[in-house]
Amino acid sequence: MSSARPAVVPENLLRPEVLGLHAYHVPPAGGMVKLDAMENPYPLPQVLREEIARVVADAEINRYPDAAASQLKADIRKVSGLPAGMEVLLGNGSDEIIQLLALAVAKPGAVLLSVEPSFVMYRMIATFAGMKYVGVPLAADFSLDLPATLEAIRRERPALVFLAYPNNPTGNLFDAAAIRQVVEAAPGLVVVDEAYYAFARDSFIPHLARYDNLLVMRTFSKLGMAGLRLGFLAGSPAWLEQLEKLRLPYNVGVLPQLVAAKLLQHHDVLLAQAESIKQERTGLLRALTRIEGVHAYPSEANFILFRVAKATQVFEGLKRRGVLIKNLNGGHPALTDCLRVTVGTQQENERFMAALQDTINQ
Ligand code: PMP
Repeated sequence: MSSARPAVVPENLLRPEVLGLHAYHVPPAGGMVKLDAMENPYPLPQVLREEIARVVADAEINRYPDAAASQLKADIRKVSGLPAGMEVLLGNGSDEIIQLLALAVAKPGAVLLSVEPSFVMYRMIATFAGMKYVGVPLAADFSLDLPATLEAIRRERPALVFLAYPNNPTGNLFDAAAIRQVVEAAPGLVVVDEAYYAFARDSFIPHLARYDNLLVMRTFSKLGMAGLRLGFLAGSPAWLEQLEKLRLPYNVGVLPQLVAAKLLQHHDVLLAQAESIKQERTGLLRALTRIEGVHAYPSEANFILFRVAKATQVFEGLKRRGVLIKNLNGGHPALTDCLRVTVGTQQENERFMAALQDTINQ
């Protein structure tokens, strides 16, 4: 019997930046209260599940999906209130769209600029695409440092700027007027990433027609479709026509297309769930604020960032008590002793709070 020999990877074959990367880590959550990944905690109503079952039963999965995804795009245009004349491009999650945008502009020496701390995939994908990444530090209160951002734009001439609105992991909306100044100053594309739009009180979609270099990206992951993997980029047809050339054919499968279109017909159900999450967020923020030694940041998203002494021990204590959240301690220096909890159902939030109190009192 021959035993398997581990393959030797000839490292000189790989790009050095690939050797330096770490794969995106997703910890196992088996059996735990899962509050680490900004998912919608509510199951779909039974009637909707049955409608989906019928759609899936009739799906022609022996065929490639509709490459233009015409029905789904029309549904998305409708529910997102896109200004007249604006178009959408679909991605297998918005992560894929970040990658597509980077590939489109990644000439040698091209810069991708974002702020820090923010969504880690901007930096990772800049590296995938061979771009230079520039992260402008946020102010101490996590607001946009406009003078520093404008200065970095003048210095670096970024081909692509990403601003998450609301920001992950800090949960706040940057000042809209400051973002408009960034869009006006940027020599290249500015993408406002509205992954958490369903929980926020503002959006840049109405500004799309005003700026030639502005695009808005959204995902349905946080609105109850994380498992479908569906994001979109909205903007002028002139931009999207160019970017479409880089989209892999059939990147959104038959089942995600059909199921998402069905769910968007029931958009009101998803929005009502988002509304409940917003109410739970208010209660959770209040409860966190009451705990001595915890500093919680207000949030326009479906998660709350908080600071607590010995955060990693607190995170481990929560895990031992069956609650999984996100430990940000040890990553970006501005997030020292920071943890991020996704807003769950009332019951999940209560379990989290009880476990947190217990861990801190220990
Ligand atoms: N943008 C931001 C700001 C995010 O936080 C996330 C998910 N954590 C994404 C984009 C990616 O979402 P998805 O790929 O699920 O659409």
